[in-house]
Amino acid sequence: MSKTKTRTPFVPYITLREGEDASSAVTLAARPRGFKGGGLYYTDEGPGDRDDRGVLWARCSQSRQHNQLLGTPSWSDVHPSRQRECMEALLCQGCVQQPSRTSLGYLFLAAPPPGATTTDWIEGHHTAQPPLCLKHAVVATERCGHLMREGAVALRSRVPRLYGVLGTLYESNGLAPPQPMELGPEYDDAPLSYKVRRHTPWILASQLVRELRGVTVVNLAEEVAAGT
Ligand SMILES: [Zn+2]
Repeated sequence: MSKTKTRTPFVPYITLREGEDASSAVTLAARPRGFKGGGLYYTDEGPGDRDDRGVLWARCSQSRQHNQLLGTPSWSDVHPSRQRECMEALLCQGCVQQPSRTSLGYLFLAAPPPGATTTDWIEGHHTAQPPLCLKHAVVATERCGHLMREGAVALRSRVPRLYGVLGTLYESNGLAPPQPMELGPEYDDAPLSYKVRRHTPWILASQLVRELRGVTVVNLAEEVAAGT
């Protein structure tokens, strides 16, 4: 037996686990565009399938046992319901507890857009990354390779407004199941605003997006040292 101890890596609450599968497609249907109430629906839809704005959410099983999440993490993917839970209620994406909040607002980490040379992008930044407690903000900067490579900055937002969702836009397909729309790669990471009522009935949401307002860049190391 090996005496080598492997430190178990911390897995954020929102990270997708192996064995958690999307099951939306099975019962997804559409009422034709142009009819009142046109758009996507589940043939066995329940109250938790839509958010407060009436947008339909992707279903995904959860690998939980005794409230413990199981399964190998799929590091680059997030679980739709768990991401929505944290983003809706503004809970830490790592531990689903209260995030760090000071007079400057809630703590978020964000990577600058490609080519950004100033911090002009931070005010009004759209993010699908829920806030963090100090402990898990530090863990994220230490262990998330992509955040380090992209030069992530720690931000505080006084007003993280609900903005819209990331997801897949569908179109009706006669009597056949609805089909995802071909929009091109430039739309892949573009969130859909809740205000675009023409499209919201046709998106199957997978991540909730907030618009960060009242933003200040903060120094995470200094805040940790000061015990903020
Ligand atoms: Zn946390």
